[in-house]
Amino acid sequence: MNNYDRIIRNYYPNALPHGVVISRVTRFIREELHINPDVLVAGNSICSDDINAIQFPNVGRELLGPFNLGGLGGYPFTGVTGVSAFTHHKTDANSVLVFFAPHIGISLFADPVNGVPGFVKRIGQNKASDCCGALWGAIKIVADLDQPIDLCSDVQEFQENSLVNILFPYKDELSRLPDNQKIIFATNVLYGHTRAELRALVSRQHDLPPGFLIVYVGGTIINVDDNAEVEAYLALDELRIGSPLEKTETDHLERFSHWVKENAG
Ligand SMILES: [Zn+2]
Repeated sequence: MNNYDRIIRNYYPNALPHGVVISRVTRFIREELHINPDVLVAGNSICSDDINAIQFPNVGRELLGPFNLGGLGGYPFTGVTGVSAFTHHKTDANSVLVFFAPHIGISLFADPVNGVPGFVKRIGQNKASDCCGALWGAIKIVADLDQPIDLCSDVQEFQENSLVNILFPYKDELSRLPDNQKIIFATNVLYGHTRAELRALVSRQHDLPPGFLIVYVGGTIINVDDNAEVEAYLALDELRIGSPLEKTETDHLERFSHWVKENAG
């Protein structure tokens, strides 16, 4: 046994096992929103880190796909063309699901009482390492920068430099935080930018069919040590349905919370 449940909720009070959240969300989509999740193609905007594949819940694999929209940090680096391809892969259900979530490890390896945010012990390693490593890298780089990086200066480092530039406006705020809060703060910043960028990319799609809907599921993935005997967690932040042609979105998070209280064991 371990203290993961309690420790993770110290940092993310609404976090639950990732599979539990996804299972509830898909049931809610079917029963309350009357969209059949079996024919929804999922576009995942999550970090390339292998731990996200290893700790991805099986129930999440029941959706079609995923189309991988993310790159480092889970930012939707596949861009306008990626979102275009993804939306064109929709089924006759005329809807898709976008799951977007930056990730953060919380390791009990170094501190079994409080956990260490931003670290995780990986399979086959005997120490905890950075998680999300790309975001830690960006935090360290931005500390020494006086201006954003010219993204054309190194196309082979485009993704990492983009994360640095996302953090750049928050550089002073970051510098005042202790390390374990830096990564939590940066993860929240990245979440907000990922959320906004997905909308911006969708708004650049000009041939979406009438009635087309996007189910947005957003949150933060919390990775756990390889020997944790619990699955990864998800702190759900958003459940919305967007109608890009009408330029409207409906927030279903509160309705979902009520539904969970009444329906989910
Ligand atoms: Zn990562």
